Amino acid sequence: MRTFKLSIAMLATTAMTAPAFAESHLPIVDEPLELTIHMHWPRAQGYGVGGDTGVIYPVEEVAREKTNIHLIDKTSGRNTTDNNEAMNLLIATGDLPDIVGGNLIQQPVNQYGPEGAFVPLNELVEEHAPNIKKFWEEHPGLKEAISAYDGNYYYIPYLPDGKYGRAWYIRQDWLDKLGLEQPDNVDELHDVLVAFRDQDPNGNGRKDEVPYFARQWEEVNRLLTLWDARSSGSDTYHDFYINDEGTVVHPYAQPAYRDALANVAKWYEEGLIDAEIFTRGASSRDFLLGENLGGMTHDWFASTSGYNAALAEKVPGFNFIPFLPPKSAGGVRMEEHRRIPIKPDGWAITYKNEHPVETIEYFDFFFSEEGALLANFGVEGKTWDMVDGEPVYKPEVLESGTPVNSQMYLEGAQIYRGYPQDYRYEWQWTDPAAREGIELYDSEDLLVDQFLGVAFNKDEQAVYDKYWPSLKTYMLERQQAWILGSGDIKADWDAYVATLEKMGYSKIIEVMNTAYVRQYS
Ligand code: CA
Repeated sequence: MRTFKLSIAMLATTAMTAPAFAESHLPIVDEPLELTIHMHWPRAQGYGVGGDTGVIYPVEEVAREKTNIHLIDKTSGRNTTDNNEAMNLLIATGDLPDIVGGNLIQQPVNQYGPEGAFVPLNELVEEHAPNIKKFWEEHPGLKEAISAYDGNYYYIPYLPDGKYGRAWYIRQDWLDKLGLEQPDNVDELHDVLVAFRDQDPNGNGRKDEVPYFARQWEEVNRLLTLWDARSSGSDTYHDFYINDEGTVVHPYAQPAYRDALANVAKWYEEGLIDAEIFTRGASSRDFLLGENLGGMTHDWFASTSGYNAALAEKVPGFNFIPFLPPKSAGGVRMEEHRRIPIKPDGWAITYKNEHPVETIEYFDFFFSEEGALLANFGVEGKTWDMVDGEPVYKPEVLESGTPVNSQMYLEGAQIYRGYPQDYRYEWQWTDPAAREGIELYDSEDLLVDQFLGVAFNKDEQAVYDKYWPSLKTYMLERQQAWILGSGDIKADWDAYVATLEKMGYSKIIEVMNTAYVRQYS
């Protein structure tokens, strides 16, 4: 592992001698200041249009005009889309750019930050970034969530906006055809799925319907919540969660999971869950809806609502709409998935940066009203206009046929710099059916608190690295086997728990909780 002891001294010097600004005056510097940046994320491997260093984002052009800071691409791992590989390459060079940005940077900055590779931002923000400071004050707990084990934080995150992510969707036209009501609880849902299976709602005379399906096989686990178990504590699948006692536990080690998974396995055996749930893959939603075969899923509001318009001609009467989560066996209506308020993506300042104050002021610009509009919507007058105080996309953006987010990525907006996302960006291209669904979900208190993760110290990290990967693999292997009918979870449970224990479950829970208490209390 690399160490950065020398650079800490260097950093301290630069930080102390840097000029101080009371507020975020623009421009940030009188003469143009060039800062190099590594920006590696799924949509582009480089800071420039389509990842091309030579083509400057329209947003960057405006940011240069406003701030006088010019970001110059210096991305490592341009020829790989593997983020970890790119990060390893970057760290291995030892020649860090001024700014490191992109996706999944939280873990590396929290590992290498305390060793001196990245600049702690606590004081810099406190003294030079009034807009970021205000954001932290208005959103308590988030700053703690991104902090490293030394109590400092080392990156400014991409902060998603909006509450809801996924929802339960059902073929309302199938319900209507069979004379059924929307299922209000888990038992009614079972009966509806049986009817979808048996009563030929697609009318082709064949028993070919797939009652419950999902693009991501992990969504089969979402059914666990219908029997009061959990599948994850965050928007990452199979994550830990905080139980009612305030302790970090794993969902797949709880007795509630045993009983709930037994029911999921039963539904699978009954043919209520796609027989190919584990293998059908990402195209299953397109395929099963397009062929008029799929009855129900759990997927994103925005993208799932688009099928009604897309399939209107191909599947006459097609009506796939969100419905409230059915009440669980214990009487709880819960939507486990929600947008996480904070992402492990964003940007950080490296020890090589000789202008940390100007850089944090630049970061702060994207938390000001002007900068946030730029980061969210692109360049005013080009992609959007201010109408009655609201940023409104131009018709040519909304009606171009290309998803708005894909258009924004080419403008340099909505990319994984640290910035507060503005839900007005997405609401404008959310179709009416999804908007209605979101309003429906807003009519009840469905969401649960999320586990935002912990930052380990070295010893804890070692314990986690030693036990967790194989423990998780084992849990998922057993889970899949039980759902597919190989073994019986209730009969196997004691042996399963004993194996988890042997594989280090208690040790994992111990380090998780030690880190959790240190970080959040
Ligand atoms: Ca049929």
